[in-house]
Amino acid sequence: MSIDYAGFRRELESFARSACPPEIRAVVAAGQKITKREYQAWQQILNAQGWGAPSWPREAGGTGWDIRQRLIFEEVMAENDCPPLYHHGLGHIGPVIIRFGTPDQKARFLPRILDGSDWWCQGYSEPGSGSDLASLSTSARLEGGAWVVNGQKIWTSHAHEASMIYMLVRTSKEAKKQEGISLLLVPMDTPGITVRPIKTIDGWHHLNEVFFDDVRVRADNLIGEVGKGWTCAKFLLERERLPPANVARLELMRRQVTQLVEEAAQAAAGQRDFGGLHHKLLLCEADVKGARVMMAQATDDLIHQRPLGVQPSAIKMTCADVAQRLTTIALDAVGPDAAHRFLADAGEDVPDATWIQNYMFTRARTIAGGTSEVQRNVVANELLGA
Ligand SMILES: Cc1cc2nc3c(=O)[nH]c(=O)nc-3n(C[C@H](O)[C@H](O)[C@H](O)COP(=O)(O)OP(=O)(O)OC[C@H]3O[C@@H](n4cnc5c(N)ncnc54)[C@H](O)[C@@H]3O)c2cc1C
Repeated sequence: MSIDYAGFRRELESFARSACPPEIRAVVAAGQKITKREYQAWQQILNAQGWGAPSWPREAGGTGWDIRQRLIFEEVMAENDCPPLYHHGLGHIGPVIIRFGTPDQKARFLPRILDGSDWWCQGYSEPGSGSDLASLSTSARLEGGAWVVNGQKIWTSHAHEASMIYMLVRTSKEAKKQEGISLLLVPMDTPGITVRPIKTIDGWHHLNEVFFDDVRVRADNLIGEVGKGWTCAKFLLERERLPPANVARLELMRRQVTQLVEEAAQAAAGQRDFGGLHHKLLLCEADVKGARVMMAQATDDLIHQRPLGVQPSAIKMTCADVAQRLTTIALDAVGPDAAHRFLADAGEDVPDATWIQNYMFTRARTIAGGTSEVQRNVVANELLGA
């Protein structure tokens, strides 16, 4: 049966406009930081509609949509200022559990991701083990029928508000470093876990250090085979670098920054030349269109199970670069005075603070999820066989 994509788009559009609460759409439209409250409220609305997991197969509680429908979903939601889906559960660990989990693990964890009751964070990076992730040393040993975890994670986004962490732990030191790693799912309220905030320049609290002192985790919370967690980690990282929402959200940011520049130009009433900013905006628009083409190709390859090659890395680099350029244009539009006042402790009371925070926040886009330098290595290795 052929799918009526135009009709599907119209159905999504009317749902987005009627079902997403105006106060949530206002936060997204203003480019403000979306909090757990908005993410969860929207997830519950989507789930009640049966659209809680657009990228999961039907048997796992997903929509079973094809790739084109998934891309249309992301575009329509961004076009209508609806929040993106919270990626750690739906986009990262959910697909890993679907692929590598036992029936019991699927039954325990997937429904709680779908209805928004569990909020996940990712415990991969450690001090000294970021780009070289396989050198990680947080350990787990089996003792009295439970895994006992000791060590430290760092740069853990949302750990302070998460109920669950999926983490890479070393379960053997004897094998090659990638082979002694396992993937463990741990409730954040387990005794022995301490979360310490990391202050960042954008003024938002999103990063943390997480310490594990003799944390006991039930043995059947290990995903896949013991010592084979690297396979799950790679499966997950590939998806982390290729989220379907990325390009749609970049287009939303381009639209917001264009509006900001237009408003600033009107307010300046000819006293300031905005030609340079308009030119930079056009270059960003061209790059967003290019990213959209790359994304469509990559998702098509994914659905037909063709190897992805350099595409996740290339798309991640492009999106990070364009996001940084767009927020730099936004900063130019609101003016350096506002940034100066923001940094001099006036914080969020400064008008336009949102765009200053977005500018600061997007500096991390070329680091989080694997740095751009490392992505360039991946591309060079693949293309040149270096
Ligand atoms: C905002 C943000 C959110 C994050 N969220 C999470 C999270 O939720 N969970 C999590 O586990 N981690 C998270 N991270 C951590 C992130 O994955 C790491 O910061 C990243 O992988 C880089 O590791 P590192 O910081 O240890 O830097 P390093 O690996 O020490 O790199 C330092 C510098 O050396 C360069 N470099 C390293 N190796 C090479 C190489 N082979 N060739 C060329 N250059 C190289 C890097 O590009 C970088 O410039 C987050 C980071 C940020 C900034």
